[in-house]
Amino acid sequence: MPKLVGVLALQGDFEAHGKLVRSLGAEAREVRVPADLDGLDALIIPGGESTVMTLGIEREGLAKPLRELAARGTPVLGTCAGMIMLDRDHLGVLDVTTRRNAFGRQVRSFEADIELAGVAGGPMHAVFIRAPWVAEHGPGVAVLGRVGEHPVAIRQGNVLAVSFHPELSGDARLHELLLAMNGTR
Ligand code: GLN
Repeated sequence: MPKLVGVLALQGDFEAHGKLVRSLGAEAREVRVPADLDGLDALIIPGGESTVMTLGIEREGLAKPLRELAARGTPVLGTCAGMIMLDRDHLGVLDVTTRRNAFGRQVRSFEADIELAGVAGGPMHAVFIRAPWVAEHGPGVAVLGRVGEHPVAIRQGNVLAVSFHPELSGDARLHELLLAMNGTR
């Protein structure tokens, strides 16, 4: 049976994630209300604008069910604003502090090839758009990749988060990794 991957679809770049998930043979479901989380094998929180996404999560009562889904061990991938949503100051799923728009106003976007621990096949071409970085993290957080000294890809158990937009570079390896992670339904 194909895996069912939810993509939080309150705001932001959710359509591209859905397409990528389908291209890998899995099913994608747009998540807008708590009931949409039922029966998911994995969840993606896309890039966008974390302030707007925060309001949407509050409006729909999604914070608690999202935390519970992650706590149950369901694999989660957060990208860019999605990484921010998972941090200590937002959903509190990841033991990290993120810094928004960390690369500075001048450097609103850039691309880089990044070597990621646990992702075979050479560096990943990464698109950064007003991206955060991880400013501080607890001992349970593995850093998978950095730009300079700053962590931009991390994993804490069943939760992966990256500062960049993997859905924009046509590289499906992080989505493949998410699908390969064994969650509990
Ligand atoms: N700068 C955005 C924020 O702080 C994130 C940008 C993105 O997701 N591309 O929410």
